[in-house]
Amino acid sequence: MIRYALVCDQDHGFEAWFASSSDYDDQSARGLVECPFCASRQVRKQIMAPAVTGTKKSDGLKPDALKAMQTMMMQAAREVRSHVEENFEYVGDAFAREARDIHEGRSEQREIYGEATPNDIKKLKDDGVPCMPLPDVPDPSKAN
Ligand SMILES: [Zn+2]
Repeated sequence: MIRYALVCDQDHGFEAWFASSSDYDDQSARGLVECPFCASRQVRKQIMAPAVTGTKKSDGLKPDALKAMQTMMMQAAREVRSHVEENFEYVGDAFAREARDIHEGRSEQREIYGEATPNDIKKLKDDGVPCMPLPDVPDPSKAN
């Protein structure tokens, strides 16, 4: 089903459902589409414009804007990652076990990061252990 906003030659606006756009074309061509207010058969589709928020005319996202956004997101990702790398304790492959131990109070409360398999992450989440993937950013300055 498809809903069309229609208007008659007396400027009555109304809506009607059709099985498809070709169904509308067919009914319209045969004069079967009729205005519910004045029974006029001079009915056409209203021209619709995409909804735009605000009053400012939007010309959409330009490629430049998209690129700037990507750069900003990369920048943010890099900052998150370097913050973690500077302030969190690296535990390597022991991440899943260590995160669980900290969560359950068996290990000293601290912030850690390390490697885990998708399966580890799933199990941690199932058990309510908060963890999230670090943004993966290429870091050519890191030579070690
Ligand atoms: Zn009408």
